[in-house]
Amino acid sequence: MRSVKIFPSETGVSCWLETSSYKNHQFNMADEIEDKYDYVVVGAGYGGFNAAYRLSEIDPGCSVAVFEAIRIGANDSGKNAGFLIDVPHAFGSGDFSHEEKVWGVKMYTAALDKMRKLIADKGLKVDWDECGKYLASYKRSTFKHLDDDAKELDTMGIPYKFYEGKELSDKLGTSYYKKAIFNPGTVLVNPADVLRGLFTIQPPNVKVFEKTPVVTIEDGANPTVILLNGKKISTKAVFVTAGPFLQEFGLCKGNTFCPIISFGAMTRVLTEEELETFKGVVPWGVTAGHTAGTTVRFTRDNRLFVRNGLKYGTFYSCSPERIRFSQRLLRKAFNNRFPAHQHVNFEYVYAGMIHLTMNSRSLFGRQGNVYFSGVGEGAGVCKSFTMGGFLAEWANGIESDILDFLKNDTKPSWMPPEPFTTVGAEIRLVYETLTAGGEI
Ligand SMILES: Cc1cc2nc3c(=O)[nH]c(=O)nc-3n(C[C@H](O)[C@H](O)[C@H](O)COP(=O)(O)OP(=O)(O)OC[C@H]3O[C@@H](n4cnc5c(N)ncnc54)[C@H](O)[C@@H]3O)c2cc1C
Repeated sequence: MRSVKIFPSETGVSCWLETSSYKNHQFNMADEIEDKYDYVVVGAGYGGFNAAYRLSEIDPGCSVAVFEAIRIGANDSGKNAGFLIDVPHAFGSGDFSHEEKVWGVKMYTAALDKMRKLIADKGLKVDWDECGKYLASYKRSTFKHLDDDAKELDTMGIPYKFYEGKELSDKLGTSYYKKAIFNPGTVLVNPADVLRGLFTIQPPNVKVFEKTPVVTIEDGANPTVILLNGKKISTKAVFVTAGPFLQEFGLCKGNTFCPIISFGAMTRVLTEEELETFKGVVPWGVTAGHTAGTTVRFTRDNRLFVRNGLKYGTFYSCSPERIRFSQRLLRKAFNNRFPAHQHVNFEYVYAGMIHLTMNSRSLFGRQGNVYFSGVGEGAGVCKSFTMGGFLAEWANGIESDILDFLKNDTKPSWMPPEPFTTVGAEIRLVYETLTAGGEI
């Protein structure tokens, strides 16, 4: 397996990590790292959390080390928009077969149930809100996506409700949107808060190391994991849940992931006076009926969050200049929706990296004693959580219908080599942005 050349980095200041009550939790210290563990997990996102947790559930006596290159919650699992969905993203689209959607609902509901139970049983005080989500349209031309979603939800007997006009603006505190479909099963969270909170409840046999990048994995009967600080660790099996950085370890052929950078901004807490326009409004989240559209949230602590802008992340990173530039589009979207609050500053702005594949399919595989998973689509928290857990089951010989599905589902499709990928992706992203119009 080859050595990693590009490591994750922190891009901008994430509102979610900064406002998490677990921000300063101290995980294990570097001088506690031992030479040998039964299992090693590389990458502490939602996938890495559940891989480690499930390993310790299966064998409470095993030793597990989790290595995260940066701070837990400073990468995508902590930087997303916080929609923990029970039904797959773009549910009504033809991107996935009906059978795949049925499996999706089964997996995501189970992931939500497990997170919900862990949080309740362990008494975690995390930002977790069972308030559902809206898929909302500004342009009439995107109503079709709402109707397509409704058709698919009907076939599975999943509840939803349409909102329009005043009823919708009363729910959201903005009259920007014309129509929305409300899906009650989605949970809205501070993703960094929930992730870091969950990592604090790993059992004592699971050691968690932040800011500890892994540089190489040497496969074999007893694989060796080499850290960037030179330390070598021997283990029985390695679980790589490193998002698009999977490619860096040489775990997939050539380019598999298209890393798409998108930007998030959050305001300061609104004042009593500013909250007048949100009287009677409970926290909400809106996704758009267009790929390049803006995601918006009104949070539990009375802040407004917007996410938009798309850029291809050839080197899995984003410059501070590009993050500053992203505020133009973020501000435009914000001002359009909240004209009375144009004076409210963004307190935090950041870039995150959505790791798509060409056909939105996940990577879920094994090379010898190295197991790996990467999401491949836009809304991946519940999927990565699920896949992490099933990697642990696979390594322990636990068979199930979901594991079979994950192993046999369609794999990511071929991507052209560089520089064609970057050029092609940039053209497509500009096209998407230009056609999104008022959905941005
Ligand atoms: C702006 C944005 C908004 C999104 N909104 C949503 C949403 O609302 N809902 C949703 O479900 N999904 C959303 N997503 C997608 C979601 O965040 C991801 O699908 C999910 O986080 C994937 O989890 P993961 O654990 O597989 O990977 P990641 O979260 O990428 O975790 C991988 C971890 O591996 C670490 N790592 C990488 N290389 C190394 C190395 N060499 N050594 C050690 N550690 C390493 C990384 O630092 C990272 O922490 C969004 C993504 C973005 C960027």
